Amino acid sequence: MTVPPFTEEHEALRESLRSFVEKEIRPRAAEWEAAEEFPRELFTRMGELGFLGLNYPEEYGGQGGDAVHGAVFAEEMARCGSGGVAAGIGGHVGIAMPPILKFGTGEQKERWLVPGIKGEQIGALAITEPGAGSDVAGLKTFARRDNGEFVVNGAKTFITNGVRADFYVTAVKTTQEGGHHGLSFLVLEKGMPGFEVTGKLEKLGWHASDTGELAFSDVRVPEESLLGEENQGFYLIMANFQWERISMALGAVGGMQATFERTLEYALERHAFGRQIGRFQVIRHKLAAMATKIEAARDLTYQGLRLFISGQDALKEVSMAKLYACRAAVEVADEAVQIHGGYGYMREYDVERALRDARLGPIGGGTDEIMKEIIGKQLGL
Ligand SMILES: Cc1cc2nc3c(=O)[nH]c(=O)nc-3n(C[C@H](O)[C@H](O)[C@H](O)COP(=O)(O)OP(=O)(O)OC[C@H]3O[C@@H](n4cnc5c(N)ncnc54)[C@H](O)[C@@H]3O)c2cc1C
Repeated sequence: MTVPPFTEEHEALRESLRSFVEKEIRPRAAEWEAAEEFPRELFTRMGELGFLGLNYPEEYGGQGGDAVHGAVFAEEMARCGSGGVAAGIGGHVGIAMPPILKFGTGEQKERWLVPGIKGEQIGALAITEPGAGSDVAGLKTFARRDNGEFVVNGAKTFITNGVRADFYVTAVKTTQEGGHHGLSFLVLEKGMPGFEVTGKLEKLGWHASDTGELAFSDVRVPEESLLGEENQGFYLIMANFQWERISMALGAVGGMQATFERTLEYALERHAFGRQIGRFQVIRHKLAAMATKIEAARDLTYQGLRLFISGQDALKEVSMAKLYACRAAVEVADEAVQIHGGYGYMREYDVERALRDARLGPIGGGTDEIMKEIIGKQLGL
């Protein structure tokens, strides 16, 4: 059975992605998490299989699919057993490359999308700074014009793929005031003099992804690397957030569904007091509540997705989906740990990692509080 907006073609893609994730990522997830890195070759492997360009035009090496293909990708990657791998690949495909597709010139697309879709270059989106995360208008990194170039000074933090990316779609101030009418996107590249990766951050979860700190000291960036219109960056960032948030909600749904399936299996395998633990009413009710929460999150998320792809104003619904699904993923993972008992607390069991990984959802891409502020404003408050 297909549920709109997914067609049979999207479901066929889901099947092939699920099988790829099951065979080529899940068995290695624990090893990559322990190594705090997944191999760069995963990008090229996925590029060869066409998975990095599902919803990118064929002229740039993509598969020519639509946003729903991208949605299937976000949901299925979240089943891979490592939030870090899903974030590293997802950050490249779902947040770093979309602004280039949407706002880039033909030349910029040739330069970054083509190798990005092949997995030969890795992208990152660099907005957050040590002093400004939620408050995007308060960014301080400054780019001044000088002889046909921009000269960039400042710093970024918490950047997914930040250590090993090749290109960084970077939000900068291009007027002294910055703010809503003074931000722009510049694409910075690894190796530019004055561009330094100053740290790889240690985290609660997402261990396999490299979360970087960056510093820019008089980095000279050619004018041709300005993405979209100068000083309109705030609006470009906000437009990009909609896809990031719906992708995060989809990832939360895919991730908690996988956690639920594993937990249901465990509840039928594990015995205590002479019966399967899943036959205790209290555990049965926990699983029933988890399944209901997942279903509610899925429906809200698919509704946000349907509105988003129809081109209607989906700000409220996308924010609700991100808020609800990402929080639900934490709650479902917490219950999964509880149902696993002591084993749930052990590294060996996937639910331990699922709980740590899920905790990022209510923070990244706009916090729960910011989602509620947006929803509140949409309600006229
Ligand atoms: C693992 C990880 C990966 C990330 N990847 C990226 C990335 O690739 N690129 C990128 O640019 N960023 C990335 N981020 C940054 C992320 O988007 C920010 O952490 C997030 O937006 C919150 O910003 P902040 O950390 O500065 O918190 P702050 O904005 O300082 O917020 C602190 C607290 O105050 C609350 N708060 C702030 N403003 C308000 C308000 N108006 N009303 C009510 N409460 C408020 C927040 O909800 C939060 O609870 C990543 C973060 C992490 C942890």
